[in-house]
Amino acid sequence: MDYLAGLNPSQRSAVEQIKGPVMIVAGAGSGKTRVITYRVAHLIRQGVDPFNILVLTFTNKAAKEMRERIMNVVGSEAKNIWMGTFHSVFSRILRVEAELIGYPKNFTIYDTDDTKSLIRAIIKEMNLDDKLYNANHVYGRISSAKNNLISPQEYNKNEAIMAEDIANGRGQLGQIYMTYAQRCYRAGAMDFDDLLFKTNVLLNKHPEVLHKYQHQFKYLMVDEYQDTNFSQYLIVKRLAAVNENICVVGDDAQSIYAFRGANIQNILNFQKDYPEVQVFKLEQNYRSTKMIVNAANSVIEKNQNQLEKNVFSENEDGEKIKVTRAFSDNEEGKTVAEAITQERSLKGLKYKDFAILYRTNAQSRAMEEALRKLNVPYKLYGGTSFYQRKEIKDLIAYFRLTFNPNDEEALKRVINYPRRGIGDTSLEKILVAADKQQYRLWDVVANAQTFLDGRSATAVGNFGLMIQSFQAVARTGSAFDTAMHIAQHSGILKDLYEDKSVEGLSRYENIQELLNGIKEFSEREDIEEKGLDIFMQDIALLTNDDKDKDPNADTVSLMTIHSSKGLEFPVVFIVGLEENLFPSQLSLNSRSELEEERRLFYVAVTRAEKKLHLSYATSRYRWGTLNNCEPSRFLDELNPACLELDFQPRSVSTGMDAGFQSERIAWKQKETDSYSKPKPKVVKTTSILPKAHVPSEGFAPSDTAGLQVGMQVEHERFGFGKVVNLEGNKPDIKATIFFKELGQKQLLLKFAKLRIV
Ligand code: ATP
Ligand code: MG
Repeated sequence: MDYLAGLNPSQRSAVEQIKGPVMIVAGAGSGKTRVITYRVAHLIRQGVDPFNILVLTFTNKAAKEMRERIMNVVGSEAKNIWMGTFHSVFSRILRVEAELIGYPKNFTIYDTDDTKSLIRAIIKEMNLDDKLYNANHVYGRISSAKNNLISPQEYNKNEAIMAEDIANGRGQLGQIYMTYAQRCYRAGAMDFDDLLFKTNVLLNKHPEVLHKYQHQFKYLMVDEYQDTNFSQYLIVKRLAAVNENICVVGDDAQSIYAFRGANIQNILNFQKDYPEVQVFKLEQNYRSTKMIVNAANSVIEKNQNQLEKNVFSENEDGEKIKVTRAFSDNEEGKTVAEAITQERSLKGLKYKDFAILYRTNAQSRAMEEALRKLNVPYKLYGGTSFYQRKEIKDLIAYFRLTFNPNDEEALKRVINYPRRGIGDTSLEKILVAADKQQYRLWDVVANAQTFLDGRSATAVGNFGLMIQSFQAVARTGSAFDTAMHIAQHSGILKDLYEDKSVEGLSRYENIQELLNGIKEFSEREDIEEKGLDIFMQDIALLTNDDKDKDPNADTVSLMTIHSSKGLEFPVVFIVGLEENLFPSQLSLNSRSELEEERRLFYVAVTRAEKKLHLSYATSRYRWGTLNNCEPSRFLDELNPACLELDFQPRSVSTGMDAGFQSERIAWKQKETDSYSKPKPKVVKTTSILPKAHVPSEGFAPSDTAGLQVGMQVEHERFGFGKVVNLEGNKPDIKATIFFKELGQKQLLLKFAKLRIV
């Protein structure tokens, strides 16, 4: 059978053009990813060695799926293709080459928590105001510097950057970046951005290494090219410089990571970088019905910044897009869950044919509750993942120390857990000694008697001996044996076993699950290297979207729109279509940010194959406060002919468009009403809160375990207040707090960002 039969003529020409630079910029669902998949299979059929092919995908899951498809055409040789995300591919290369740039082969990968914890520690040491130097913000600055390949030295020398920081009252950012980089180096650790930054350093400083990989990767392919940042762009450019067999595919209309430094210019510049480039156009959408493609086109045409594209579908017309209005987020959840049960039985679908997409992770709660009530099985992508749980991170910190005893964040985490009499003061002394005298942390721990006295010297010394004993086991033992040994001898298993509370039990089970996972890993047949160090590298790089244990399980998928990129589902629900939520409140400052939100909406709409549902709630709890909500402007932007409302517009109107407008008017009226009452029960967050205080998506709930009535607290946005009442059971405890500025408010503790003062 012709293995290229499943391609249309333009796709086929792109696949067969294997020499020289190739670019495909095309709309959603037009087969870009399919072209890459077939192209790899074609290369191998043409006799190219799979080891010479490098394919960069956006998620590990996408890479896995692609590999499986290629395997169907070319067989097990497909195992040897270099394929994965930028982070996973280049961390693998760094494992081999790290020593050339002064890092140990077993360098640790610091995750976001480690990074922030280190940044916080530095801010504290420098006696800076941690509100002004908010760890998230500082992390963002450092990350963006790295993604633009600005080293700490360059940062501090760059007058424009320094002037900007000083103007913002954050003149010490450069120094924080410098110290942060030194600490990571001392700890033998790289953060996520370093994996790309240091790859650039490596390729830049070591021409022989660059040369080696240029010859290794004779064929390069990059999916979702519109979302690569400068650092990624440059790696690709360098590697492709000799053979210039590079094929990139992307869609400028789906660029949704500008906030992380992705630069759409990469697409536009490709032609300048490679004047010889062959450009292929794909215009036919094979994924969605005509209705969905029309709706998607009607939205994206509102963006001013975009390349001309004509996307059409020859699939069936399809059903209209259903728009549902709910009174609250809970009711929205209920209608979604009911629609899923109904449509599943009516149309004979499976649960896995459905996806629920939302703008922010916090929206999953209402959906999950509603699905559970109707016994609908679901899988949540994102959110607090298994590997972020405390007990899992504790055990992994021991693994990390075993392979890299200089890992400062891991050391801080477990040097006194389980308790072994090493107090904060001793830890402080260890860190100060390392810092002042530029010792490696491990040298201080291993020579505890020199730096500490009495009992704590003995305790730290014993801790060092324990880690050394783990290292000895790791040298010969399998991943599983080593992990088991460490779980037992570190005291973690015993500590959790002795905790007979429900939480303790579940933590114990989680550790068992981790150990089971390691057992499975060490028995896998499709990989060569099965050490515990490799397992750790894998899990450090798993994005939330990849923790998909059983892709065939019949479950509804719940995820943010960002994670849905590249995926497709027969039936899609986009929920929470409300102003200030989607488009996000943070995006309303500028046209470019609003356009990015619109592209995000375009991505969401184009995930649907057969049927799309849109919904919004007229009131919703956000950050613990009940708010009125206005329907999203994106609803107005959709071609009204594609829509079917499941409710009567509030006032008589002639068309659908007017339907939402009347909703808006009704909403505005309500807002005025609520303000005319003396004590509004329902307020709109935006109108009372200064913009700067709106928490970002990734905000962490507070640690309020010991909160009691009468305590003084500080809320991130509401300021100081006093707890007057606590009610409900964990994790749904509601606190009534009297705030000095704003009066009484009721907050759900799990969401409220509170601090006991
Ligand atoms: P996105 O922009 O969302 O990443 P894409 O351009 O990568 O989309 P694909 O995911 O490759 O598009 O393809 C969309 C769907 O259309 C897939 O199910 C794919 O198998 C199917 N498809 C693509 N081309 C063809 C074709 N020539 N014949 C049949 N089906 C096709
Ligand atoms: Mg794709």
